[in-house]
Amino acid sequence: MTPKRSPSDFALFGGAPAFVEKLHVGRPNVGDRAAFLRRVEDILDRRWFTNSGPYVQEFERRIAAEAGVEYCVAMCNATVALEIAARALGFSGEVILPSFTFVATACALMWQEITPVFCDVDPVRHTIDPEKIESLITPRTTGIIGVHVWGQPCNIEAIEEIARRRGLRVLFDAAHALACTHRGRRIGGFGDAEVFSFHATKFLNSFEGGAVVTNDAALAERMRLMRNFGFAGQDNVIHLGTNGKMCEVSAAMGLTCLESMEDIIATNRRNHFAYSEGLASVPGLRLYAFDPAEESNFQYVIVEVDAEQAGLSRDELVRLLHAENVLARRYFYPGCHRMAPFQSYFPHAHLLLPETEKLSTRVMSLPTGTAVGVEEVAIVCDIIRAASRCSPEISTRIRAAS
Ligand SMILES: *Cc1c(COP(=O)(O)O)cnc(C)c1O
Repeated sequence: MTPKRSPSDFALFGGAPAFVEKLHVGRPNVGDRAAFLRRVEDILDRRWFTNSGPYVQEFERRIAAEAGVEYCVAMCNATVALEIAARALGFSGEVILPSFTFVATACALMWQEITPVFCDVDPVRHTIDPEKIESLITPRTTGIIGVHVWGQPCNIEAIEEIARRRGLRVLFDAAHALACTHRGRRIGGFGDAEVFSFHATKFLNSFEGGAVVTNDAALAERMRLMRNFGFAGQDNVIHLGTNGKMCEVSAAMGLTCLESMEDIIATNRRNHFAYSEGLASVPGLRLYAFDPAEESNFQYVIVEVDAEQAGLSRDELVRLLHAENVLARRYFYPGCHRMAPFQSYFPHAHLLLPETEKLSTRVMSLPTGTAVGVEEVAIVCDIIRAASRCSPEISTRIRAAS
């Protein structure tokens, strides 16, 4: 890349884009292609494509072991896993959750006519603020969903303490948090149950997929029934259910990615520290940091932009990067409470969510994962540093154009 010295060097203002090919956030990790294809051959030979086949069973055992829990119930995706877990836990009425999450957490509740009650987040950790939970509890509240955003565990003890005292059940949306630890213990065994996502963009993918993990045998059994139309054996339906099954080819991909998990973490960690170094000197930018005493999968490189100090807003920076073919994302924007299905019910929700409101205008997610090398990270950091150096002119030009 030719170094960018003046605003006209940026692609947004007519310069050559820094990347010819687009650099994505959440480009899937592939793992060992040959190992995956061997498993696909097995599946075709066996003609056992779904309904708790051998690969799904193996995947469930492996995930349970990774998470340090007794039971893993694999599902077709994490949204259905959240829906089934919510039902199996007897959630009804109102459930408290953060608004600063992927919309699926809130949809999973509303889809079942459970009212999502949005709670604000801790501005440093980005996870639900336990101090704001209690004032949201009403006689209709049945549970709390904490989200381990970016793989950062929630303040688990505080949430569990409130739940015990107020007779509520706790579900954790751990979609981001496979292989992350809290106080040295793997995420998976906290609360009544936790939900992982294996969507293509996630740390460990099965194309589409999810799972609920728990140490509660009865809960796991109920979820197994619900996942498969309530079948307890041929012709014997004993529970109301749906179709939440994971198929064999997904489990084959999940198992293949599990074998590469350590490499994926190492790549993510390397990229994370390359970004950390490359952006350290940029005023107004803060790279979201993980506790070095804990394990993390480093799947998300999150930058918070303080528009005043940086001289550029998050949105301006994202526009600038997109023109360079760096497809930074505004995760999570605008916050579930501002999305149509929820805003129409709770038009005043934002009044209770000042931190969520602020955070959702400040965060962006940068490309990482096995599709991104340190050379690319260095270029992305160069662009951001150059933008910072000429931020007044860039900002003036963007504002003049819009
Ligand atoms: C991705 C994600 C989900 C949904 O996962 P799917 O497997 O795509 O259904 C739920 N919650 C969070 C926080 C997520 O990031």
